[in-house]
Amino acid sequence: MEKKPYERPHITRLETSMPGKFGMRSERPPTTHIDGITVDSLVKTYGSPLFVLSENTIRTTYRKALNAFTTRYPKVQFAWSYKTNYLAAVCNVFHQEGAWAEVVSGFEYQKAIENGVDPKNIIFNGPVKTKEELETATRNGSLIHIDHLDELYLLIEVAENSEQKPKVAIRVNMDTGIYPMWDRFGFNYEDGQAWDALNKIMHSGKMELVGLHTHIGTFILSAGAYGVAAAKLAELARLLKQKFNHAIKYIDMGGGFASKNTLKGSYLPGSDTNPSISEFAEAISTALINSHFQPGELPLLILEPGRALIDEAGYILTTVLANKRLASGRRATIIDTGVNLLFTSFWYQHPVTVAQEFSQYREDTTLYGPLCMNIDCIRENINLPLLQLGDKLVIHYTGAYNLTQWMQFIHMRPAVVMIDARGNVHEVRQKENHHHVGSLEKLPEHLQI
Ligand SMILES: *Cc1c(COP(=O)(O)O)cnc(C)c1O
Repeated sequence: MEKKPYERPHITRLETSMPGKFGMRSERPPTTHIDGITVDSLVKTYGSPLFVLSENTIRTTYRKALNAFTTRYPKVQFAWSYKTNYLAAVCNVFHQEGAWAEVVSGFEYQKAIENGVDPKNIIFNGPVKTKEELETATRNGSLIHIDHLDELYLLIEVAENSEQKPKVAIRVNMDTGIYPMWDRFGFNYEDGQAWDALNKIMHSGKMELVGLHTHIGTFILSAGAYGVAAAKLAELARLLKQKFNHAIKYIDMGGGFASKNTLKGSYLPGSDTNPSISEFAEAISTALINSHFQPGELPLLILEPGRALIDEAGYILTTVLANKRLASGRRATIIDTGVNLLFTSFWYQHPVTVAQEFSQYREDTTLYGPLCMNIDCIRENINLPLLQLGDKLVIHYTGAYNLTQWMQFIHMRPAVVMIDARGNVHEVRQKENHHHVGSLEKLPEHLQI
């Protein structure tokens, strides 16, 4: 038998995503309009890229979430997490809906005051608060959530020189079955730190202990973890009642509920599989109403959801700048939105849709941003029609964290518009220009040429 010539085996990298239960492709219809306004006209008026916020979606998402809690628990209050999106227009939609403000720095505290929030309805969280900030919050009667013992002692000092008693809660971290466990914020439950801090507050007599707070993590996909957390806070409340005959006014369960986004590497879309707000509400309220609290003595339940309330209301409109073939043969498209504007693309596979009708021909594509940086990739693999230069795309679920964590890098940051319930478009943040960016710089005289 003739010996066949040797042929070197070679491994070819599979340049597609894993096939899902529903096949390789996930086609989405084009997004030609947002709240009745054409994508084309928005880009013509305000430029590309462009952040678009839907006021209607913010309000309906908020009402749905609030309703999920108020139907299950008698006393509920939401507080808007400023760091998630602190554009004044966004904050004030939430405040008009009745949300308090939840801030994590002196800067955010100031923003809430400027937005017109009653200081008594500001929750001051976060790992660092200066003495001056604690003095202001004490004077204003804001709710101060203590993070660690050094802060507790600083606050005792502030209290000694103040006419008002600071209104305080402690932040508690705990094992809820979610790992890695967030134990860097607040006092630990299991090792007794939290109980120790509560004793120190009660014995000092210098502060008014009004609540207990936790925020167990972010983008949590297990509603049950919140049930565990609520039960542990209820137990601390029971111990306070037993030892000091002291009743706290509220339990603040924080935020961290998953939005509809899809985490990178997920098998199925998050919009189909992530727990709904109702599931989180069910777990929390069941734990509280089944605990020791007597009827009529249930504390106010405060929630601080961020991403779950705003992700869906945010879009980025973006334009195709170039198409190319990579050495692997793969199709690549360059758009005018980079990772400096879409921070969350490091964690999420943001849905991207086309803004015009196309033929049925499609191809797996990598979407790159315009930055001269290798990491500037918006989607590693997405099945899209064959796009032409100038075509528009819509990136979905971008409302949370991008408008606070975006950075001016290589390009200027774009404008932000909000479409109101009547379909009027409002510019809520101007696009940056060269002057804004340069205005804080100073050139020493000897370097002038
Ligand atoms: C960031 C933050 C929130 C909001 O978190 P989400 O994951 O966006 O819901 C709420 N409370 C505190 C204390 C936070 O730090």
